[in-house]
Amino acid sequence: RDTYIEKQFGRLNDMQRQAVFTTDGPLLILAGAGSGKTTVLVNRIANLIRFGSAHGSSWTPREVTEDDVKALKTAIMTGTDAPAWLDGMLRQNAVRSWNVMAITFTNKAAGELKERLRNMLGGEEGDEVFASTFHSACVRILRRWAESIGYPRSFTIYDTDDSQRVMKAVYKELSIDDKFFPIKSAINQMSRWKDQLVSPEEALRTPARDTKGAIAAKVYAAYEKKLREAGAFDFDDLIYQTVQLLAEHEDVREFYQNKYRYLLVDEYQDTSVAQFRLVSLLTGPEKNICVVGDDDQSIYRFRGATIENILNFERIFPGTKTIRLEQNYRSTSNILNAANCVIQHNTERKGKTLWTRNDEGDKVQVYTAENEQDEAMHIADVIGEHLKEGGHLADHAVLYRMNAQSAPIESYFTRAGIPHKIVGGQRFNDRKEVKDIHSYMSIVANARDDVRLRRIINEPARKIGNTTVDVITDLAAQQGISMLEVISHADAYAKLSRAMMPLLKFWQIYEKLQESLETRTLDEFAQDVIEVTGYKAMLEADAAKGHEDAADRLQNLGQLVNNVKNYCDQHGEEASLEGYLEDIALISDIDSYNESADQVVLMTIHSAKGLEFPYVFLIGMEEGVFPSEMSKYSEADLEEERRLAYVGITRAKRELYISNSVSRMLYGRTQRNEPSRFLREIEPEYIEETRSPALERRSSMGWGSGYSDTVPGGASGYSGAFGWGRNSSRFGGRTGGSYLNREYNASERGGFASGYAG
Ligand code: ATP
Ligand code: MG
Repeated sequence: RDTYIEKQFGRLNDMQRQAVFTTDGPLLILAGAGSGKTTVLVNRIANLIRFGSAHGSSWTPREVTEDDVKALKTAIMTGTDAPAWLDGMLRQNAVRSWNVMAITFTNKAAGELKERLRNMLGGEEGDEVFASTFHSACVRILRRWAESIGYPRSFTIYDTDDSQRVMKAVYKELSIDDKFFPIKSAINQMSRWKDQLVSPEEALRTPARDTKGAIAAKVYAAYEKKLREAGAFDFDDLIYQTVQLLAEHEDVREFYQNKYRYLLVDEYQDTSVAQFRLVSLLTGPEKNICVVGDDDQSIYRFRGATIENILNFERIFPGTKTIRLEQNYRSTSNILNAANCVIQHNTERKGKTLWTRNDEGDKVQVYTAENEQDEAMHIADVIGEHLKEGGHLADHAVLYRMNAQSAPIESYFTRAGIPHKIVGGQRFNDRKEVKDIHSYMSIVANARDDVRLRRIINEPARKIGNTTVDVITDLAAQQGISMLEVISHADAYAKLSRAMMPLLKFWQIYEKLQESLETRTLDEFAQDVIEVTGYKAMLEADAAKGHEDAADRLQNLGQLVNNVKNYCDQHGEEASLEGYLEDIALISDIDSYNESADQVVLMTIHSAKGLEFPYVFLIGMEEGVFPSEMSKYSEADLEEERRLAYVGITRAKRELYISNSVSRMLYGRTQRNEPSRFLREIEPEYIEETRSPALERRSSMGWGSGYSDTVPGGASGYSGAFGWGRNSSRFGGRTGGSYLNREYNASERGGFASGYAG
């Protein structure tokens, strides 16, 4: 039996295997990037389900025939599936797949987990494992128990835009000036409190440091009250309220502890206080909790994640077994060494050095650009070269510190006709028309949702003005009912007499939609929402008047209906309006990234956590950009930036390209930046430096001599050993002449001329 099991996990190294076979009790896997943490997590689940935990009911032996033995031998030799009888025997003490819960940070990571489990365990069992993000796990729990904490089952999930609308209303009610204490700051403070599990009462009770602190506590309480009335949770609430629910209701807690007897958490270093508490509440008396993480990749400190969670783990779960993995399987040794060089400069770390058996690979390519345009061109050149050699676009990722940095890359790629995809640009679901239709759908699901109601009550315009809305708000507050209920009896209120007709019409629309939801399929219902509300007619009228974007917006609504249809196809019988709205609320930036399309992917380093790509471009490696200007004044912030750099570098498998630019336009300002300290921290033996030909030309003509100081060796170093020679062979055999002409003759840029011509 043991040999057979070993064989199933033959690819794993000794330490990884130990982690996989430690089935019971608290387990902490602490390991560097690309060392196989996620791989171990998946294999560990497969082992639990295939071969069971150490404790389990024993099996009854049956008579074994010679054929059985033969089949077993073959299975061991080839590492294939066990003969049916052995499989059955081994499974006697197997853990049931529905007893396992795996939590990670993004839907994409959760989707990947599911995919890999399906591959290892087969469709049915693979699907039964509950692999999910923190937020979806909480939504699932809340859907079942919301009523026990005073929320409707069909609660709404508010996004940042909704939150801001609520906060605006709170500010108005309490007569607080946004200029004195910006709404955004209040929301941030509130979010931090929820991450730290501080209730509104506690926030009010704790003496505030200053007036702003006192205001924050006051608005927090008022905001929570409004959300409760609306039957809505914001994103932080999903975790916060689930923790409250589990902490206060023993029966609920026991229910989940019994249901999920094995708990696994990936990217553990980024859990907040609230998430950590959630995990400990879900962990049953058997303490079968396994967390995997890397303290060097903790990049959400600003969001309340604390490294202390790693340090606390062993304290909260006595008897924890800790396993460290040190072999990196992802990157070439040059890339890995570069990463090690950088992270070594942090003092606040447990300290570990990764090694690899992988090839040395090419040196890390460092390119100094003249400006952000030049940086974009350079990346396009390299990608073009790879394509000529038979590479794929999707093997390339451009990573940056801030979303704003994607703009020049995107516009250059668009002009040059390079297919690409930005993760985290404006999301489909954030478009106005899409949000409006979703708001209609939300209020049909949850009639208490006044925030979404306000959003669409006069959209399209139907003569329900702000004054009327204010009157409705007051009436609703006085009677403790929802705005919609007031509207349904609009004729009973003298104060509403002037707006009575439009309000009753609105109520009719609402009733029609309710009926549509009951009698038609969900995608037909979505179509009805678009039509019955007059939204479609409004856009069609706009299009006829020549409003350019009206056609686009109509198309987006068509897409919305398609999305609903896809959702229905995916969920079959279980499809519901609440379920659809929930999916939308939980989709985050990273999730819209679709690997199957052959496109270069552009995203922030934060979004790239846990992912890997053969070729990575890490751009904007400059002081003031990365590390950011703000972080330069605090050692702790700087260390967080450095961890982020480490995450970026370690995404690369085969080749890493780092670039910095002597001048950069960002947020409408041109800055001159020194190369990042993180660049200088990499030992020269692992890198190969190139400077933009445009810079060379300038310095040889006597301009901008200041530039050459920024890179050791400056101009002279460039023209020598690794100057034109390397460049011209690398970038499609162009002569120096054509390179010099690049600003004037962009069509020479290899491979992408077609899109550019116009
Ligand atoms: P990160 O810290 O970035 O999340 P990780 O520690 O989770 O990384 P994985 O993503 O699990 O690492 O693995 C990195 C790469 O190494 C993957 O491509 C994986 O398939 C490969 N890998 C992991 N373990 C082994 C092994 N024993 N043999 C060969 N390849 C392996
Ligand atoms: Mg991982």
